[in-house]
Amino acid sequence: MTALSLKNVNKSFGSVHVLKDINLEVEEGEFVVFVGPSGCGKSTLLRVIAGLEDASSGDIHIGEDLVNLTPPAKRGIAMVFQSYALYPHLNVRNNMTLALKQAKRSKEVIDARVAEASRMLDLEQYLDRYPSELSGGQRQRVAIGRAIVRQPKLFLFDEPLSNLDAALRMNTRIEIANLHRQLDASMIYVTHDQTEAMTLADKIVVLRDGRVEQIGSPMELYNNPANQFVAGFLGAPS
Ligand code: ADP
Ligand code: MG
Repeated sequence: MTALSLKNVNKSFGSVHVLKDINLEVEEGEFVVFVGPSGCGKSTLLRVIAGLEDASSGDIHIGEDLVNLTPPAKRGIAMVFQSYALYPHLNVRNNMTLALKQAKRSKEVIDARVAEASRMLDLEQYLDRYPSELSGGQRQRVAIGRAIVRQPKLFLFDEPLSNLDAALRMNTRIEIANLHRQLDASMIYVTHDQTEAMTLADKIVVLRDGRVEQIGSPMELYNNPANQFVAGFLGAPS
């Protein structure tokens, strides 16, 4: 089953044409990585998928549903940003539960989901702390936990590790791979880091200047890059 499909999606801001005829599919359970240089439209593409920006044209399906007009909270998607975007005045538990409370989930459901997410992310002893009392890596785990408790069918990660130091980046990358194995969900992961792309992806989408340059498995792209740009980006011989 296809979890997400984009057909001829375009996005312009005024006269600036940022996304150009994007076509791609994400299968259920698939881990898809978007790579491309800064400014090529990766974040805009995630925001359009999440519904935080409207597409200027084209169709977005999640499962069977056309979601072009569906508000973000109803798309079954959770997004994790580079900047964590935690609420500073809420402790870890309340950061994680806010969306569930807004959705009027029962206390039992909320408690069970926080327990599960905090166990998966090793956050159990931090639930009463505030974001300012956490390290960068812990904050990013809270941001991921906040996504997990919503049990989305599709996770969107926008360069989630780029504010972390190298060692923590590797640990968190392994954690995200483990989460993907445990959760019954598709993931789209944006990075400009070639190692992250090659190690995490079932499928890589290479973007350049708002267009899809090539789509394939890491090995396909490495062995058969469509052009010099893709080869250069993935460190492949060309
Ligand atoms: P990336 O995430 O790949 O670095 P972005 O999606 O952030 O790229 O940006 C792609 C292009 O779209 C950039 O040229 C950026 O300036 C432009 N852009 C993004 N958001 C807006 C906006 N709200 N208004 C105008 N231009 C924007
Ligand atoms: Mg970006």
